[in-house]
Amino acid sequence: MSKTAIVWFRTDLRVHDNPPLAAAVEDTDEVVPVYTFDPQQFGESEYGVPKTGPRRAQFRRESVTDLRSSLRERDGDLVVRQGRPDRVLPTLAREHDADAVHCQTRPATEEYETEASVRQSLSHEGIELKTHWTHTLYHREDLPTPVADIADTFTPWRQDVEENAAVREPVPAPETVPTPAVDSGDVPSLSDLGFENPETDIDDRGVYEFRGGETAGLERLAEYVWERDRLREYKETRNGLLGADYSSKLSPWLAHGCLSPRRVHAAVREYEAERVANESTYWLVFELLWRDFDAFQFEKHGAQFFQPGGIRARDIDWRKDRTAFERWASGETGVPFVDANMRELNATGYMSNRGRQNAASFLANTLGVDWRLGAAYFESRLIDYDVCSNWGNWAYVAGTGNDSRDSAFDVVGQAHRYDGDAEYVTHWCPELDGLPSAYAHEPWTMSEAEQRQYGVELGIEYPDPMVDVDAGHEQFE
Ligand SMILES: Cc1cc2nc3c(=O)[nH]c(=O)nc-3n(C[C@H](O)[C@H](O)[C@H](O)COP(=O)(O)OP(=O)(O)OC[C@H]3O[C@@H](n4cnc5c(N)ncnc54)[C@H](O)[C@@H]3O)c2cc1C
Repeated sequence: MSKTAIVWFRTDLRVHDNPPLAAAVEDTDEVVPVYTFDPQQFGESEYGVPKTGPRRAQFRRESVTDLRSSLRERDGDLVVRQGRPDRVLPTLAREHDADAVHCQTRPATEEYETEASVRQSLSHEGIELKTHWTHTLYHREDLPTPVADIADTFTPWRQDVEENAAVREPVPAPETVPTPAVDSGDVPSLSDLGFENPETDIDDRGVYEFRGGETAGLERLAEYVWERDRLREYKETRNGLLGADYSSKLSPWLAHGCLSPRRVHAAVREYEAERVANESTYWLVFELLWRDFDAFQFEKHGAQFFQPGGIRARDIDWRKDRTAFERWASGETGVPFVDANMRELNATGYMSNRGRQNAASFLANTLGVDWRLGAAYFESRLIDYDVCSNWGNWAYVAGTGNDSRDSAFDVVGQAHRYDGDAEYVTHWCPELDGLPSAYAHEPWTMSEAEQRQYGVELGIEYPDPMVDVDAGHEQFE
């Protein structure tokens, strides 16, 4: 009797290095690949913002469409549905008389809950849910120290894995994915997903034209590493703010699983063998280790990450000031470096790492607003949203996560340091264009006469800063 398995794709929208897909192809005669747009990921979050904004939804649609093409090239297909996984999967499993469902497991609260409800609903049909660890560079089972005992600070954890663990080779993409006749369904439109008049046009001020899918992700990897040859200087350029190549821009594809971190790691090793191995090539892998660290910290601490005091259970009286939050979110705080970054996020779905650190610190540390509102806003807007990286980094900056130091940023000092000529702030706040760069970063320091002069001559008007911004103090590099 022939055996059939279902592969439930989640944030692993690729055929390369995909252990659930590879295992299903290996173990069974026929495979039914499935992706379902889960309504629980859309709608409004408990923080009053959309859980998934239209730009990430669009990236996801493109990624699903690309995955379907790759599977069709392999004699397969992708069944696409709109509905809760715990309803869609048992129905399909029954229709195809499947023996098992294979999927990726993710170490975060909602993702585990979804998985648990799927497991339960499948068990009523006598079908097993087989989960695979696929999202990180190091496999959970290869960690030298069990997750429950890992350090809460990055450096000892990193040193432990670097010395005592190895990265597995990526799993090859299957040559064929034999799929029975299926009713494959259409990829839902943005309006099917509940978006009315969504803004998804590419803003030509953005750093990159992000297109979803494994094909585009692999192209970007080749472009950054080989064609543009930028990996050799990553460590020096990674704090940049403008342009495609100051950093890899791989995060959206990593977050949706269109690219596997092991595939990126393999490309770095190949580049090191063929061109150059230096601090920069090491540093890209170092950043992937941060990503792993975030994931394993979520595995360790679970829902505690979403508490106001975070994993350190700090007793901080966060402000619930919605007006302050909205000025911050719309890029109207009166502090150009913060505003420029928020405007970039709103217009493109992307923000640099330097920008994220400063924008987050300004909301949590300078304004004292509940950091979880900011994390939820980033969750809504970022194309590259990754639950562990986003909430983990927010908690870190807010002082409720994996750092015991005071993490407040001096955002004005950072603006002068990383945007000395004010090119970035005037790119996103064109109303400041024409001011000397010192004033473009600190318009409130102009004398009244200068304000009149620039206001009349250049028509410059900028909101007053919401708070005394000089109170911060810089601890981060
Ligand atoms: C408040 C805040 C929120 C963030 N939210 C997210 C998020 O939702 N999704 C996300 O992928 N990253 C997040 N980051 C981390 C980081 O800002 C982005 O990964 C990075 O800016 C993406 O651009 P890149 O791919 O060019 O990065 P590169 O500098 O080229 O780095 C390569 C890869 O390493 C990983 N990486 C780099 N820095 C970090 C970091 N600090 N923590 C974890 N992984 C990292 C990413 O996967 C990235 O694609 C956040 C950082 C902060 C401070």
